[in-house]
Amino acid sequence: MALQGVIDRLKKTTLEEIGVSFSLADILRDMKIEGDNVYLKLFSPSDKYHDFLRKKAEEVLKSIGAQQVEIEFTNEPPKATAPQTPPPPQAQQNPFENKRKIPKVKKVVAVASGKGGVGKSTVAVNLAAALKKMGYEVGYLDADMYGPSGPTMLGAKDKQVLAREDGKLIPPESHGIKMMSIGLLLPSEDTPVIWRGPVLFKALSQFLFDIDWAEDELDFLIIDLPPGTGDVQITLGQTAEIDGAVIVTTPQDVALIDVKKGIQMFNEVMIPVLGIVENMSYFICPETDKKYEIFGKSRTEEVAKQYNIDLLGKIPIEPKVAEFGDLGIPIVLAKEDTASSKAFIEIAENMIRKLSG
Ligand code: ADP
Repeated sequence: MALQGVIDRLKKTTLEEIGVSFSLADILRDMKIEGDNVYLKLFSPSDKYHDFLRKKAEEVLKSIGAQQVEIEFTNEPPKATAPQTPPPPQAQQNPFENKRKIPKVKKVVAVASGKGGVGKSTVAVNLAAALKKMGYEVGYLDADMYGPSGPTMLGAKDKQVLAREDGKLIPPESHGIKMMSIGLLLPSEDTPVIWRGPVLFKALSQFLFDIDWAEDELDFLIIDLPPGTGDVQITLGQTAEIDGAVIVTTPQDVALIDVKKGIQMFNEVMIPVLGIVENMSYFICPETDKKYEIFGKSRTEEVAKQYNIDLLGKIPIEPKVAEFGDLGIPIVLAKEDTASSKAFIEIAENMIRKLSG
């Protein structure tokens, strides 16, 4: 089989069905042709699409006379060095080179967590509020497509999103923070969000690139990611320029295992991890002022050191954080004299330092 024929065919095989705009040639990492047998190595960050890609590649190669088709997948980010078998020009394209800048935003920070319920949204919203309090222009993008809590926590459940004639979305404002969430676009709070690949990619792409955040420019956009290391995180990492990620955890060991996965994922999509935030670190008894480490001794510092990452700060458990969260007012704006508000301000300062350092 002729190399050029195979390459041409791979170039023509688009992958629209899974909502991406590239072809099989764009994800080709290595190829060997021996007689009528073809070996391909394809880049795919999620094994969810392996069956689809394998079937597609086998189909097109067999249609041009291949006898045996062997396919292997890799989720390794591309290396700077050239592969041994020179792939076609498009295959050499680094998928991460196609990252686009989110319009009208100076600095973009993603807030992530290994698992749900650790307070990721609480931290994201309060970081946005802390930055606003410091005088910055701030946006908050709730990209937790499966469980958006941004509208509740920012008291914005009844806010309207406007769409301009050119298709750009105008974000509403709450507490002076521009915000967008899938929760604002759903007909009712109880609507289950069942995203299939292509629809999710489309919605996310619109959230990243089609929001008119400001007349001029936002200083910071805080993106509240879904928990874990799934499609949203990977797509975001591959398509948008993100200046850094903050990983939220609680002190338990089980949460820390997921932190390690999160760090690895951000390394793979080449987003610098600005640091870890430990939430629910300790409880201060309001009556006695005594400090209780109710989850036991924290090992977060150890993990941070192991990965050479900063611990940006620790936030105590304070009932007021949840109370004001439910009321739709970030604690940083509602009660500035609390230990958690002070911690959030300190974390925001440390984050700015990391971003400018
Ligand atoms: P996640 O986004 O990780 O799922 P949330 O931010 O929704 O977590 O927080 C889960 C619950 O814990 C919410 O009810 C929130 O108000 C509460 N919570 C988060 N952080 C604290 C804290 N430091 N003190 C008290 N309650 C908190």
